[in-house]
Amino acid sequence: MSVADAIRAATAKLTLTSDTARLDAELLMAHALGLTRSDMLIRAMQGEIPSAFNGLIERRATREPVAHIIGEAEFYGRSFRISQDVLIPRGDSETLIEAAREYAGNARRVLDLGTGSGALLITAMLELGIGNGVGVDASGAALAMAKGNASALGLDDDRAEFHLRDWREAGWAKGLGRFDLILCNPPYVEIDAELEPDVRDFEPADALFSGPEGLDDYRILLPQLGNLMSKNAVAVFEIGAAQQQSVSDIASACGFTVEARNDLAARPRALIIR
Ligand code: GLN
Repeated sequence: MSVADAIRAATAKLTLTSDTARLDAELLMAHALGLTRSDMLIRAMQGEIPSAFNGLIERRATREPVAHIIGEAEFYGRSFRISQDVLIPRGDSETLIEAAREYAGNARRVLDLGTGSGALLITAMLELGIGNGVGVDASGAALAMAKGNASALGLDDDRAEFHLRDWREAGWAKGLGRFDLILCNPPYVEIDAELEPDVRDFEPADALFSGPEGLDDYRILLPQLGNLMSKNAVAVFEIGAAQQQSVSDIASACGFTVEARNDLAARPRALIIR
């Protein structure tokens, strides 16, 4: 049996539990071989199957995300280290980077609220050439991950800072200063929503759930945004597909104007708040 045969067999097995069975099998094989996926596809398909491969496929068959098995995920063309301590960066969130490019191309200081792996902060800094960035998170493990990703991608401590802050506590924003751009992918899932087991059983609940309507974190953060914004600043918040109206209403009640941008599936995903 060659690598190509093993990928075919694993794809058939994973089809029962994954919408991306072929891609999953390829990524796990590339990981077992210690190659990038494209190098594997180009030059390793007729080779020997690495002994680790079947174990990796078994893990994926129990719904463990590929990103957790290989310890990394791609966001906006860059690879980020991730773990069960952070949300896996999703393609949908790339909408926030596009919105930031459109509205905050000249930003000099950016804040990422709930930075997790640091994917949004680091990508915005690199793509928009922003000199100084601050990521906050209520999880020390997440911050360690974000810090590692920042330095791996060339942002040293004095350009990208990370602070342990919990916005459910009074005084959490003390000393952070003001920002030209604020990014935030808060938890926004309703507490009793039915999630895929891949998400529910493996990703951090603190990064997903936000009260009965998924709105608790917007209600905490939006009224405080003004204190963190410089003159002409823009905030870009991720929202759930059905939350455009409710989150816009919260932002309007705080005196902001709001526009929405859609993700690639044409669902409203980013709110631009000024
Ligand atoms: N988009 C994520 C999901 O549906 C939720 C992310 C979040 O709550 N910020 O799994």
